[in-house]
Amino acid sequence: MKLKRRSFLKLVGATGAGLALSQMGFDVRPIEAASNECRIHSAREYTSVCNFCSCGCGMICHVKDGKLINLEGDPDHVVSEGTLCSKGASTSMIPNSDQRVKTPLYRAPGSDRWEEISWETAIEKVAKKIKQTRDDHWITDETIGGETYTVNRTDAIGFLGGAQINNEECYLMTKMARLLGVSFLEHQARV
Ligand code: SF4
Repeated sequence: MKLKRRSFLKLVGATGAGLALSQMGFDVRPIEAASNECRIHSAREYTSVCNFCSCGCGMICHVKDGKLINLEGDPDHVVSEGTLCSKGASTSMIPNSDQRVKTPLYRAPGSDRWEEISWETAIEKVAKKIKQTRDDHWITDETIGGETYTVNRTDAIGFLGGAQINNEECYLMTKMARLLGVSFLEHQARV
């Protein structure tokens, strides 16, 4: 039977190490003892994607009591096959950092300080700004080489994607940008 690492771990997790491995003919006692001491024992496992560059390397993250306690390359990931560069490997420092910003910050015009605001307030503010900017800078037509074309776009807004955005999210973001008449679409990794 050919088992990938992830499938193997799932099998072990689902059926119990003793049952799964003993059924394969292994002596499981040393593994059971090591498993109980393992720091990711009973942690929840998630997959993620590195947010630093456009390679999109895959990660496995282990979370316990709301804290990331382990991060490693995902051997089953089609792009990176378990590898992470030094930058990707250092991602583990971000989620638990006390400098991490977890709520939107707003600095009012003329103010010298940032204040925390709710996500609802932030989204409303951004939506109003987008609408205002779009209305103020709408271009209906453009003349090129003596010919006038209908363009219906705004050049005053740009959309910047990030490396953690997956295909489906990219599709939705691109669709929204096009619906708004935005033609400047870029990705964080190329800037
Ligand atoms: S691990 Fe390194 S190469 Fe892979 S996506 Fe992150 S920064 Fe890029």
